[in-house]
Amino acid sequence: MQRTEEVSNCPECGHQIRVDRRYVTWCDRCDWNVDPTSEEDYTPAWRLRLEHRLAESLYRELETGSIHRPGWDAARISAHVLSAVILLLPLIALLAGIALLVFYRPLWLSGMLALVAFAAAFLFRPRAGRLPEDVQLVPRDQAPTLYAVLDELADAIGTRRVATVVVSTQANVWYQQIGWRFRPVVGIGLPLWADLRPQERIAVLAHELGHGGHGDGRSSWLVNAAWSVLQELEATFSEHHGDWVRRELGYDDPTGATFFTRMVNATLGPLVRGVAWLLERLALRSGQRAEYLADRKSGEIAGSEAAAHALERLLLADVSYRAMERALRFPAGIDPLEAVRREVTETPAREIQRHLRISRLREVRTDATHPPTYLRTKLIRTRPATTARVVLGIDRSRAIDHELQPAATKALADLRASL
Ligand SMILES: [Zn+2]
Ligand SMILES: [Zn+2]
Repeated sequence: MQRTEEVSNCPECGHQIRVDRRYVTWCDRCDWNVDPTSEEDYTPAWRLRLEHRLAESLYRELETGSIHRPGWDAARISAHVLSAVILLLPLIALLAGIALLVFYRPLWLSGMLALVAFAAAFLFRPRAGRLPEDVQLVPRDQAPTLYAVLDELADAIGTRRVATVVVSTQANVWYQQIGWRFRPVVGIGLPLWADLRPQERIAVLAHELGHGGHGDGRSSWLVNAAWSVLQELEATFSEHHGDWVRRELGYDDPTGATFFTRMVNATLGPLVRGVAWLLERLALRSGQRAEYLADRKSGEIAGSEAAAHALERLLLADVSYRAMERALRFPAGIDPLEAVRREVTETPAREIQRHLRISRLREVRTDATHPPTYLRTKLIRTRPATTARVVLGIDRSRAIDHELQPAATKALADLRASL
């Protein structure tokens, strides 16, 4: 292999640094250039301080004590009350509309007011969780090994068995409850999955299933349901020029719709975003605690080293996605997922270290749903579980890849077509 490494000095502190021309050059001592692509951040300083303090204090609490289910603190109670109000809104609006029509006169006025009430009820209606559109289903009978592993994990964690697995080309693995029966679904993102070692796969799946296994703020039905209503509303009010009216009502007059939706966007948009922000803040602490809890589960089930490694691997999710996309865009006879594996294998430890540093600088603010990775891996390694409760051998791991092949081929073909 050609040697691409040389040595230079940091322009900030003069410390000697290693230079690998294929990757970003940065300084281990003063963090110079550690995050060259960082976007302008307009978050006020007080909020950054608050979020850092929150992350660090929660970490210290968990590091010294044992991780337990979140208690009913003021924030969690408020999150639930706020969610209940959001979910009761459509019912109240509906009843108000009916009452107006029945009791209020003149009828033309009550009719108009009732229309506003019914529109509000319609907007705030609860939505059942849906599958994302660009996923491929992997039915149980086509993937016996994968489902056997998932069942084993669900039983070990004490949560419901997964109803369906779907495959996508996103660089993540996720868990969601779908429909009015809240059927648990696991989503496997190919560029992330492809390169995980067997036991890391167990760790990632155990973390996700861990979210179904305890009653934390985010997996609470009430907060989640309110959250999904707010998210749909936010999407609705951030669209332009009457897109949503046409979509929701089948209405097709752009001139009238533009004016109407602009008014609605200008008035209700900030309100919805404000309420969503509040709910997010209220659920933040219990949400982050839930992540640590799921990490702890993941460590117990897959072994701590595998769990920590898997989290570090997640830091390369963007790198993986870009490698896959490149291979799809400029086909050179290499399988896109093989391209991902090569890219990740070639990534030097120092580059992973840089991503960890970025997580320290950036994640505390950008990814409020998850605590920063450097704290998560640190906590997993503080009280290591050295043995794994569920073990995935290389053979079963290969069998799973084989089972996922048809869905993966379709998902990749879809993405290629859309590029
Ligand atoms: Zn330096
Ligand atoms: Zn999680």
